[in-house]
Amino acid sequence: MTQTEEIKSKLDIVDIINEYVPLRQAGANFKAPCPFHEEKTPSFMVSRERQFFKCFGCGESGDIFTFLQKYENLEFPEALQILAEKAGVKLTRQDPTLTNLKTRLNDLHSLAVEFYKQVLFSQEGRQALKYLKEQRKLSDEIIKEFNLGLAPNDWNRASNFLKSKGFTDYEIKQSGLVVEKSGTGYYDRFRNRIIFPIQDHHNKFVGFTARALNTDEPAKYINSPQTIIYNKSQILFGLNKAREQIKQKKLVILVEGNMDVIASHIAKVKNVVAVSGTS
Ligand SMILES: [Zn+2]
Repeated sequence: MTQTEEIKSKLDIVDIINEYVPLRQAGANFKAPCPFHEEKTPSFMVSRERQFFKCFGCGESGDIFTFLQKYENLEFPEALQILAEKAGVKLTRQDPTLTNLKTRLNDLHSLAVEFYKQVLFSQEGRQALKYLKEQRKLSDEIIKEFNLGLAPNDWNRASNFLKSKGFTDYEIKQSGLVVEKSGTGYYDRFRNRIIFPIQDHHNKFVGFTARALNTDEPAKYINSPQTIIYNKSQILFGLNKAREQIKQKKLVILVEGNMDVIASHIAKVKNVVAVSGTS
């Protein structure tokens, strides 16, 4: 069985599509107004038995991969990455046609999150951890829930780590985690800062906000730049965690900083997001 088949065997197309388009049962099948063309009477059908959808109006048809690609405007490797995670299938990715720059940058960010976390919980993170716990009153659980980390006070440790994991200079530059030097080379963008990972609506890590540890730094917060996986106008800090509550309450609270989002979570108010890219 290929990984694609394994993923399909573990997911139900009815559940997947229902997250995007509310489906109604109609006999053995499910139907809805088609998300791919304008219509009043539903001609979009989903078959659980065949794990297949088809629109009898516009002719769109396919499986879960086709649906996600079409609905979210993704390439196959990105749909594969999202559905693999939903299915709990760990992709081995031997085949280069199953990755693209976006999925590589998502993988790079996941590893960077682990790297920054490790630094925070090491000897060199003691001061930062003390600040988070004592001054910000964050518990271990909250620190872990938000995947907070620490960028070491070093010009190239993060990028060297990413290189050691097989990422190319080009990929590292495209991730925005480094700043290019005039001439050649680059250096780590985030140094001696507390790291707040930013996730998209599929919980993928796409960027970082970094808060200075030293109060005399000119910029208190700096952020990842816009990249092919981080569209600042579309991604808000905390949105992945707030989504359900926003739907339920039909209300979203916009706050200024990431710390405010975390503080609201501690207070059990979860329909809160922060504008990213602001300082
Ligand atoms: Zn249609």
